[in-house]
Amino acid sequence: MAARELRRQGEDSLVVLEARDRVGGRTLNMPIGDGHIVEVGGEWIGPGQDAVAALIQELGIEAYDHYYRGDTTYDIEGKVSRGLLPDVSFSEALDFAKVAWQLDRLSAKLPLGEPWRAKNAAALDQQTFGAWLSQHAATSFTPAVFRLINRAVWSGYPERTSLLWILHYLRSAGGLLPVILNDGGAQDQRIEGGSQVISQRMAANLGDRVLLGRPVLRIEDPSSGPTRVVTAQETFTADRVIVAMAPADTMRIDFAPGLPEQRLALASGWARLPRLPLVKAAVLYDAPFWRVDGLNGAMQSDRSPIQLVFDNSPEDASMGVLSCFLSIVECPHLADRAAREEGLKHELARYFGAKALDAKGYVEKDWATDPWSTGCITPLTPGLLTAGGEHLRKPSGRIHWAGTESAKVWCGYMDGAISAGARAAAEVIASLR
Ligand SMILES: Cc1cc2nc3c(=O)[nH]c(=O)nc-3n(C[C@H](O)[C@H](O)[C@H](O)COP(=O)(O)OP(=O)(O)OC[C@H]3O[C@@H](n4cnc5c(N)ncnc54)[C@H](O)[C@@H]3O)c2cc1C
Repeated sequence: MAARELRRQGEDSLVVLEARDRVGGRTLNMPIGDGHIVEVGGEWIGPGQDAVAALIQELGIEAYDHYYRGDTTYDIEGKVSRGLLPDVSFSEALDFAKVAWQLDRLSAKLPLGEPWRAKNAAALDQQTFGAWLSQHAATSFTPAVFRLINRAVWSGYPERTSLLWILHYLRSAGGLLPVILNDGGAQDQRIEGGSQVISQRMAANLGDRVLLGRPVLRIEDPSSGPTRVVTAQETFTADRVIVAMAPADTMRIDFAPGLPEQRLALASGWARLPRLPLVKAAVLYDAPFWRVDGLNGAMQSDRSPIQLVFDNSPEDASMGVLSCFLSIVECPHLADRAAREEGLKHELARYFGAKALDAKGYVEKDWATDPWSTGCITPLTPGLLTAGGEHLRKPSGRIHWAGTESAKVWCGYMDGAISAGARAAAEVIASLR
């Protein structure tokens, strides 16, 4: 996106160096037969995600509503229920609503994209979300649901996640509801042709300015002369460098001179974090059979192994697809692919009946074993955001930072990645003029 924006603003002397043999990063389309694909990385967009909405419109890509007609299945605190909401008592629902409201109220007070500037930032960053929940929740249901959200949306556990980081994330998305709502929230719409098509379309427009299979090994920013960007094949010189990846992923690059201490602390802290390694798997069927039973194929659970399920069938419903999110550390018996392919069918049968055993195919992406993405979304542990947050966006000499983690709005999402790229490009243009 940064390269697209630079060109739009008249700066065309640029090159994009991509480590992988493909573009798209944490978005990836996988073929599932008959010309269909399923996304095994970033997928949905929702209301308020204006950057991605504008970009797909420019690129001539359509979005369509995800299928949510019918009941959602919930498996919370060992109880399986179906409906619009989980089957809970009035007092449990009230407690959840109260805690959610308190959380939203706290998050709305943060300066957008700059949580470290909040008056009580240090206190909020010293606390874990789990500790805050145990002080504010009056039922076991409320922490169970937030644990579900923390695991599934933020790949971590409340007892390890900074309260300030959670509030920052919610603030950037406009509150808790936009994050957790499927229909009408961040999981509202799918991209025609799969989300990776956004990067593929931009790369096609950039043509031979995009070089694949070029892991950047070293970036030099000397006190005189141009910057130097070193790959195994060649060395490029440039007036400015934009690094567009998660802070943790920048740790694979050797910076000379070294990065400012706070930036390094942030990136290395992020890289060392305990995270829930994520697998996104799709189990394929002849038809979306659950729809006939009045189910929308969505399932949310606070118990392992499957955290979330979505009906990811093609728009024409010519086959059925159930996409599952799981973390192998929570289910060691599903540690290898063959075990997952078999085991997930049985897990799905618990929620959608015996027909779930009759799968005709399986695809997955294990992000933990990907050499170029340290994680999906990684929640920060206490202390890191106040110690180094300012350096998420602050240029280090002539090196500018993009990537979704640096976004003020919808950080962690594709939308954030797009606005961050545009912001870094604008910074570069301004610094060159
Ligand atoms: C399973 C999963 C589900 C998700 N679901 C959603 C969703 O539904 N909606 C949503 O909006 N977001 C979702 N996300 C998040 C979304 O995919 C990311 O926010 C977005 O793709 C991040 O884009 P980025 O450009 O910031 O980083 P990346 O996509 O990580 O791109 C960084 C790029 O840098 C490259 N790179 C890394 N190191 C080097 C190096 N040394 N040299 C050269 N190149 C390098 C990488 O190969 C990569 O292409 C999901 C992510 C995952 C993994």
